Amino acid sequence: MIIGIVGQVSQVRDSRIPRPSDCGNGKTNLMVSMAYHQFRTRGRKVITNFHTKYPGSDNWNCTWSEFMTAQEIFEHFLDPEYDDALVCISELSGILHSAARSSKTIQWVDNNLNQRRKAGHDLIWDAQRWMSNDKILRDKTDYIYVPVKFHCVYDIRTQNWIPTTQCPKDICDEKHLILVWQDFPAPDPEDALTPIKILHAWEIGELYDTKERITDQTLHAPA
Ligand SMILES: [Zn+2]
Repeated sequence: MIIGIVGQVSQVRDSRIPRPSDCGNGKTNLMVSMAYHQFRTRGRKVITNFHTKYPGSDNWNCTWSEFMTAQEIFEHFLDPEYDDALVCISELSGILHSAARSSKTIQWVDNNLNQRRKAGHDLIWDAQRWMSNDKILRDKTDYIYVPVKFHCVYDIRTQNWIPTTQCPKDICDEKHLILVWQDFPAPDPEDALTPIKILHAWEIGELYDTKERITDQTLHAPA
């Protein structure tokens, strides 16, 4: 299964659902929460193109995922040892944008994605915006989620964190909840306004380097 997490919606949405802000809307936070859940509950091998760590630890050598660059991930996509691995690629749109300079590379990526999907292997990707060259990705993606970052307050009566206002900032010191809506397949109208998940961003932020920028965005087909 291929799951996409986007910071900008692909289709016209109900105007009552908040639109994500342009930056820092919790995409990687959502990806990490799904991947860490699979690691914890199933002991599943996780591959990420960003660095992870255990909560409460600052030891980046002791991680719950295997770090690879996007290039390494695509080179090893179909290796049998990664059959059951959950592969997570952050900022895939930018990576595809760079790959688009070579039709051979785009073909290689496209083939890899097709074969991985046919084999029933799992991939989660995130991207800020859709771009024209994302067509190869869009057609293969089974679910698309849109996270939106909110400030929150603690409600003593229900002992729950309650979302208040949407956060417009990339870097912000306040506490955040990430509310997640499903964009594709379009949910039933009566469910459309309800977030499918609410994440405590500060807890998931303990599991990866929230300040890391994915800088290695080059891809090239093997010679
Ligand atoms: Zn904020």
